[in-house]
This record gives sequence, structure tokens and C-alpha cells, in this order.
Amino acid sequence: MKKLISTLLVLLISFILAVITYEPAPSPDKDTLAVHFLDVGQANCQVILLPDNKVMMIDAGNNDDSALICNYLDSLGISTIDYLIGTHPHEDHIGSMDTVINNYSIGSVYIPDAQADTQSYRDFQKAMSRKSLGATLTSAGTVICENEMYKAVAVAPVYKYDDLNNMSIVIRLTYKDASFLFTGDAEEESENDITDDISADVLCVPHHGSSTSLSDYFLNRVDPMYAVISCGKNNDYGHPHWETMEKLENDDIVTYRTDTMGTVICTTLGNGANDYYWERHYD
Ligand SMILES: [Zn+2]
Repeated sequence: MKKLISTLLVLLISFILAVITYEPAPSPDKDTLAVHFLDVGQANCQVILLPDNKVMMIDAGNNDDSALICNYLDSLGISTIDYLIGTHPHEDHIGSMDTVINNYSIGSVYIPDAQADTQSYRDFQKAMSRKSLGATLTSAGTVICENEMYKAVAVAPVYKYDDLNNMSIVIRLTYKDASFLFTGDAEEESENDITDDISADVLCVPHHGSSTSLSDYFLNRVDPMYAVISCGKNNDYGHPHWETMEKLENDDIVTYRTDTMGTVICTTLGNGANDYYWERHYD
């Protein structure tokens, strides 16, 4: 009997503790903004559910991520992508863009003024022309969307660069007091040229965590609380590089990685610093 009582007591205490410490993300209603950092291996793809139920998608993984991305969009009940952004024309960012364009209703498309002589890029162009879509050539200052609730504006590329990575569209997204910075594969050269406000609570780390990006100057200006690195398990580039991880650790930035955690979701009601809820996505 004593044993039973002590077992029940332990259960009761753990239940109370669970109730106290478990902080579920706010349910997806019209007031939340959720960023899904998809695990697309050594590539990049974010799906953003905006507070007015519009959908933004930044990059579309590699060519062989089509099924994964479409299944994910379907599981969220998405049929329209209102704002589709290809940060730059490398395969690991626009690889499945053609499939996404072919299978979903597409609003506005944003790409930098840069092209690539690759099959992936030609497939993207073909899908665009099949749907008679035009793209807005985007650079620093291009407003992707703006209303009384949220705003997404490009802060880079400031100039034209030979290196396609530096042509990456960098986007600052704000929703009330919440802020995110999406950086594509921008390298230090482009980072240094940015003059606009890039402060953000959540930083999508540039170039999969490469040491050729995320200068101290840039990181200090962003001054994030959270960082997310999109990269593949045991990738050929050794991303994220230890120099990047060291910088994030030294600044006590809570860091999420798609290679070790899979797809990660960040939800906010827009109330700033203490209002970001992080979850892993399980299939
Ligand atoms: Zn990349």
C-alpha cells in the first residue's frame, strides 16, 4: 500500500511539473506567424504561414526534394503560395522550384538579377513561362509585402556581384515586435555592404553555416536570440563550420540545426523577445 501511495505521489508530482513546464506553441490562428525551417538536407527551404493566412516560401531545396516539399505543403493544407522567393539560382535553393510552380497556385515571385547556366535554372524558367509568371528582380529596398501587421523587405543584394552567393536576396521579416532575417548564401562581402536595419530576434544563418559568411560585424548588427542552420547531415562542405558554431556559442545564441533536429518550427504572436515557441516536426 505504501508503495502504491508513493508511486501515485510521484505520478502526481510529475504531472504537476509537466503542466507547469510544458509550454505549447499558440494554436495556429490568425494572430500567429509560423516559420517552418524544412529539413531538406544540404539545401534551403522555409515555409512561412503569415498571420493573415497568406503563405511565403523562401527557396525550394534540391531537385530531389520535390516530393518532400510537396508532401509538407499538402500536410499544411496549402494550395497557394502568395510570395515565392528564390534567393539565388543555385540548385540547393531553386532545385524543386519548378515542381512547386507546377503544382501550386503562385502569387508573386522574387528572384535576384542573376542567372545560372544549369538544368535546374532552365527548369525553373520553363515552369515560370508555362504559367505565364513574371518575377520581380529583387535587390536591397524591394518590398515583398507590407501591411498593418507584417512587412518583408529585401536588404540585399546591395550591388551586383560575380559570386552568385553574394547575389542572394536577404529578407528582413517583421511582425509586430517579432523579427526574422533570412540570408540565403550571402557571403561576407554582401553582408558588409548592407546598410538597412538587419536587427532580428531569429537569424537564419547564411550559407548553411559556412565560415565564409557571418562576420562578427554582421552578427553584432543582427544581434539575434536564436539562430537556425539549414544543412545536411555529414555534408561534403563540413557545414556548419566550427568557426560559425563558436561565434554563436560565444554570444549565447540558441541554435537549431536541421541536420541534427530535422524540420524545426518557430511560432510567434509577435510580442517580441519572450514570444518565440520552438518545436521539432515529427512525421
Ligand atoms: Zn546553398
